[in-house]
Amino acid sequence: AKSDGRGTYRRFEPAMDAQVQSRRALELDLRKALAGGEFELHYQPLVRSRNGEISGFEALIRWRHPQHGLIAPGSFIPLAEDTGLIVPIGEWVIRQACRTASRWPEHLHVAVNISAVQFRYAGLAEVIVGALAASGLKASRLEIEITESVLVQDKEGTLAILHRLRELGVRIAMDDFGTGYSSLTYLQCFPFDKIKIDRSFVRDVATDAGSLNIVRAITALANGMGMTATAEGVETREQLDRIAAEGCTEMQGYLFSRPLPADEIERRFLTAEGP
Ligand code: C2E
Ligand code: CA
Ligand code: CA
Ligand code: CA
Repeated sequence: AKSDGRGTYRRFEPAMDAQVQSRRALELDLRKALAGGEFELHYQPLVRSRNGEISGFEALIRWRHPQHGLIAPGSFIPLAEDTGLIVPIGEWVIRQACRTASRWPEHLHVAVNISAVQFRYAGLAEVIVGALAASGLKASRLEIEITESVLVQDKEGTLAILHRLRELGVRIAMDDFGTGYSSLTYLQCFPFDKIKIDRSFVRDVATDAGSLNIVRAITALANGMGMTATAEGVETREQLDRIAAEGCTEMQGYLFSRPLPADEIERRFLTAEGP
């Protein structure tokens, strides 16, 4: 049957149609979700290794779908990026995160993920300036997290925007460090404030010497370059102990808390009574 090109084509045609149609349906759904206020941000604490204090929270988008319930970003961000919808969705994320963080105590910052696609549209810096002004949040309390993929395309343009944001006082973190390409080159051409060590290295840190060596090397590199290092995806006490011993500044993971809605964050972490 494989040699029968026509037959094969015919058999696959309906399936491909269905795929295109379900993409279109999802795209329409995404537009409706944005207009209808179906997106929400959950927040996950960033914890100082030294004393266990919370330094801030990372904002992570979720889609509260009327039929399907809570949908994780992995299921819709890629299509939002392909269709350009990530631009208005990302603007909403920035504004919402700034608004929420402006209610938190002064010493806490909020970290927002910015997709590479958002960087290729003009006006990201203006959106950030506008969100800071509207919320009254100080620029130094906003951190943006970008991945290496941002720097792959239009490196000059991206660097110009990063420098502009840095001048405003916004902090810049390199996310998922070690999973992309030419990581070291990027660290040299832009002074990030923070490196986030990808969860894939943190996961096996207690059982695999290779992973521990990578965490050790990234932490030393960050500290040596005057950046802080944050370990993502810390789930066990064992991982925490190993990573803290390497001098990693900050940690984040289910061990401390899952990402939670803003009101639950306030109840659990920001009220005087404490947890
Ligand atoms: P990320 O930026 O690397 O975010 C960390 C992801 O790891 C989050 O998944 C978080 O819930 C998860 N995580 C945190 N601690 C642990 C842990 O201890 N164990 C495990 N197994 N997972 C942990 P989430 O929320 O599903 O987000 C996935 C990705 O979607 C993010 O990865 C980020 O790339 C993207 N994303 C999320 N929110 C936004 C957004 O507002 N804008 C953009 N452009 N991308 C976003
Ligand atoms: Ca992130
Ligand atoms: Ca990450
Ligand atoms: Ca990731």
